[in-house]
Amino acid sequence: MPSTYKTVILGGGNASGYAAKAFVESGIAPGDLAIVTEEPYVAYERPALSKGYLLGAARLPGFHTCVGGGGERQAPEWYAEKGITYLTNAHVTKADLAARTLTLASGDTISYSQNLIIATGARAVKLTEFGVPGADLSGIHYLRDVKDADALVAAVAATKEASGKAVIVGGGYIGMECAAGLASTGLAGATTIVMPEDRLMARLLTPQLAAVYERLYGAKGVAVVKGAKVTAFTGKDGKVTGVTYTDAAGASHTLEASLVVVGVGARANTELFTGQLDMAAGGIKVDYMMATSVPGVYAVGDVAAFPLTSVATGAVAHARQEHVTHCRSSAAQAVKAITSTSAPPPAYEYLPYFYSRVFNLSWVFYGEAAADATTVHFGDMNEAKVFGCLWLGAGGRLVGAFLEGGSADEAGVLKSAVAQGLKGLEAAALDTASGSGLVAA
Ligand code: NDP
Repeated sequence: MPSTYKTVILGGGNASGYAAKAFVESGIAPGDLAIVTEEPYVAYERPALSKGYLLGAARLPGFHTCVGGGGERQAPEWYAEKGITYLTNAHVTKADLAARTLTLASGDTISYSQNLIIATGARAVKLTEFGVPGADLSGIHYLRDVKDADALVAAVAATKEASGKAVIVGGGYIGMECAAGLASTGLAGATTIVMPEDRLMARLLTPQLAAVYERLYGAKGVAVVKGAKVTAFTGKDGKVTGVTYTDAAGASHTLEASLVVVGVGARANTELFTGQLDMAAGGIKVDYMMATSVPGVYAVGDVAAFPLTSVATGAVAHARQEHVTHCRSSAAQAVKAITSTSAPPPAYEYLPYFYSRVFNLSWVFYGEAAADATTVHFGDMNEAKVFGCLWLGAGGRLVGAFLEGGSADEAGVLKSAVAQGLKGLEAAALDTASGSGLVAA
């Protein structure tokens, strides 16, 4: 096996799989590309882990890239057929951008002659980082990869068998989706979400929207404790037995728990490049081509902080987007920039998009849930079948749209309406981008 490739992709997450797809579509020659990942599997569609995987409905190789994006399924054979070297179980301990070399834990090195694409993604924020007592007890789970999901599925079965209780810390994506997964697989009536905010997914959902989901979660056997700050985990023989929190009034309570899932956010994996690349917004700073501050080096997906135009204000600032849609499209953008033989591709344009599926519900959101926008709710929020909310900014412009249970056509109309406003703002931002510091390289 050669150890030098024209291009190396570091990281084996969603963005990496979609970058490989884009390279193959561009006609890459066999032997030109290598992917290095510490995971034991080739890239897969990570969003399945907190949804179908918990229900037993998704298992590898069924959800390798690009099942979610509508492309050919990229199982290990696919990479072999295309002449792409895929190094799994390969932990990179050092990246030397001046020497164009990555060093593996095994001591081996791998080099690139032209381009490195950094797709190192993000990792779950751990409560041990904040020194929460007992946070290192076994039975406390995080969810980011297949290994985590397998451990969680086994723990749910054991908890059900023992008639135990589960506590979910955090009311965001992981919290809401895992709580639904647990309640749907035998832990209804035994699952509680504890969170510091006054409502589920407070950064996105209005109080009215959150109230609908909270009611539904209650009906499905998930209790929600708001305004709760986790202060400690109690345990026995090294295993968690309870979660202690203080409520809004400062009183302390302990919930019984033999299984805990923590979803309190993610942190970009940038450490290998500290001091070598410009950083921004907790990630690696890139320009509209996904190019970093070092020529030939690109960053894509969760780790990339790219110039994002605010739909609400038109202001441009480097931001990270932790979403599979951005993983897909930023990977495609970097590959276009690398392989383009004539003019560079058009600047990266991105409309923030999020979605979730819990129980028999399914929502989409486009744009920004701007705090100062006027919100207009629609649909029947009591029946909770099709409903949503529009965020209207200055001059009545639509800056955000949330739709639960609507058709794909209806979602498409809302997306276009939000995107229309963004188009004009992005064009104006691009006119003034040069010299503004937004173009990193
Ligand atoms: P989120 O940012 O969605 O949610 C974290 C939640 O935990 C927030 O409500 C946050 O509150 C709260 N929180 C923060 N600190 C604490 C704390 N010390 N104790 C208790 N609660 C706390 O992150 P997740 O962990 O849920 O998800 C991680 C990433 O995974 C997401 O960024 C997302 O991209 C991805 N993901 C996406 C899914 C999807 O798109 N459907 C599904 C699953 C994961 P506050 O807002 O106040 O900080």
